[in-house]
Amino acid sequence: MSQGRIFSGMRPTGKLHIGHLSVLENWVKLQDSHECFFGIVDWHALTTAFDNPATLPEHIMDMALDWLSVGLDPEKSAIFVQSHVKQHGELHLLLSMITPLSWLERVPTYKDQIQQLNQQGKDINTYGFLGYPLLMAADILVYRANLVPVGVDQLPHLELCREVARRFNYLYQVSLFPEPQAALSRENVLPGTDGRKMSKSYGNEIAIGIEPKELAQKVRQMVTDPARIRKDDPGHPEVCVVHTYHEFYDAENVASLGESCRAGEIGCVECKKRLTQKLEAVLAPIREKRLSLEQKPEWVKEILIEGQKRAALEAEKTMALAREAMSIK
Ligand code: SF4
Repeated sequence: MSQGRIFSGMRPTGKLHIGHLSVLENWVKLQDSHECFFGIVDWHALTTAFDNPATLPEHIMDMALDWLSVGLDPEKSAIFVQSHVKQHGELHLLLSMITPLSWLERVPTYKDQIQQLNQQGKDINTYGFLGYPLLMAADILVYRANLVPVGVDQLPHLELCREVARRFNYLYQVSLFPEPQAALSRENVLPGTDGRKMSKSYGNEIAIGIEPKELAQKVRQMVTDPARIRKDDPGHPEVCVVHTYHEFYDAENVASLGESCRAGEIGCVECKKRLTQKLEAVLAPIREKRLSLEQKPEWVKEILIEGQKRAALEAEKTMALAREAMSIK
């Protein structure tokens, strides 16, 4: 029996990388216990990529392939594209009428991101970007979801969503929107191959559909302990990217690998080979499934259409009540 309703989404900005796997694995589990709505949130992608929308269709297809390859099941969950369910946009508009500007301006990530993007020469002082957390709130509330899988950094967005739900219910004297709770997901602690945050823009990511040759190459490039020059120099695994990956993907052996590194008994080449094998064991079945799905693009599109129908049905029920509450016929 369903333990509640979940909405979650991802921005389609390119092929997913290994850092997204823990989030997706969590979604796959939740499918068995909850009624799940998973949206490829293309309108969110436009808040920053409004000047380059031509790549969106390809990125949407990539995301659908990645999700299905990891194990999202269209029989269990509604898998759809946000912009195909117009009710997200309508609820965003209605909620924008009741949301004080100060609530959006104080979202901690807003000023940081504006500053970061301005430094990169991108002017993002747009109405759409300011309203991004409100669109997220609409994404959740349009399904009246009571649980949202989020990382710690997204908690302020969820708090805004809860505040907006409360304000709507109070203003119109209804109990339409539940205040969704956070289902905290395991943080992505995997760095990129160069030790920085994993990001396609740094070229330090490991895509989840990566080919074996490229995987081996990426692991060979991983930053290790810079103080270790010769194979028998004592190493410091705590500063090594390869070791961080072993912690994640080889929990059984990570302690002994760390000891061997400290004692200068294992070389970095050998250590990286072992990691490549571990990663390959995780990624091979995903790649295999992805390759077979790539042969069936029409089937994937059909899944998104079916997902849209399921999502729109629930979203429309909410919108009928929301319109009524706001005296909109
Ligand atoms: Fe890193 Fe392994 Fe080399 Fe130690 S042996 S520095 S853990 S790659």
